[in-house]
Amino acid sequence: MFDNLTERLSGVIKTLRGEARLTESNIQEALREVRMALIEADVALPAIKVFIEQVKQRAIGHEVMDSLTPGQALIGIVHQELIAIMGGEKAELSLNVAPPAVILMAGLQGAGKTTSSGKLAKWLMEEKKKKVLLVSCDIYRPAAIDQLALLAEQTGAEFFPVQTGQQPAQIGTTALDYARRHHHDVVIVDTAGRLGIDEAMMQEITQLEQLLKPVETLFVVDAMQGQDAVNTAKAFSDALPLTGVILTKLDGDARGGAALSVRHVTGKPIKFAGVAEKLSGLEPFYPDRMASRILG
Ligand code: GDP
Repeated sequence: MFDNLTERLSGVIKTLRGEARLTESNIQEALREVRMALIEADVALPAIKVFIEQVKQRAIGHEVMDSLTPGQALIGIVHQELIAIMGGEKAELSLNVAPPAVILMAGLQGAGKTTSSGKLAKWLMEEKKKKVLLVSCDIYRPAAIDQLALLAEQTGAEFFPVQTGQQPAQIGTTALDYARRHHHDVVIVDTAGRLGIDEAMMQEITQLEQLLKPVETLFVVDAMQGQDAVNTAKAFSDALPLTGVILTKLDGDARGGAALSVRHVTGKPIKFAGVAEKLSGLEPFYPDRMASRILG
């Protein structure tokens, strides 16, 4: 299992005891363990390949020779590279524009877009003291609009009501205009999610992105999706200039592999983690904490 990579490695690393330095041949077995653990954790193969190569490059060299035990050094390198592949530092939400700053939420149905929109509104109000407007462009599912309206009520964020018959583009632009006139700092735009990727959905969200010029276009993805997250991430990343990712349902038994793959595919930082169903269950994403969770 992914969670005890340290355990897995320590067995192999015992064989490294007494080695004066790490070499390509003596770390091979340990790297095989790392690779296996990542495969089991549903990390996409291209991401694993890059990761293993980086660990290898770092391991073979003086950095390791300087350290006290080669085994500990190797675990340290794996840990550091896990942090690096997930973006290194915690990535901030960028709101550095003349208000209202638009945040566009993208992702498949069920990923947690609507819930995350509500959570993000709460976070922005509480942590950043922002005045937030919540807008739903999901005209295909009245229940999704009602869900967002309810979340708005629970957080105290304002909800922008949708008129029957309005198209997403029209909803988005009227909401933005409303936010300008009512001095909202942030407008969070929830979009329609389909069960799979389809052309019409992509065109609709691309049009919204072009019209609303969001400062953040966040791809919301369910950590439990594992390998499937890669294909979804690729489709959204190709269609939209994503600025970041919200990885949801990390409170489940997701093995965390999606964090590595999604970062690898989109090249964009994971900015938030969904850690509970409730409205307070959203946290900034810390690559170092995730690396520790992965290592166990
Ligand atoms: P959407 O279709 O993308 O808007 O997805 P929803 O926001 O409706 O979320 C789908 C389901 O996932 C709902 O039952 C949410 O309560 C649940 N959910 C969303 N985020 C999280 C999370 O971080 N943790 C848990 N446990 N459940 C979540």
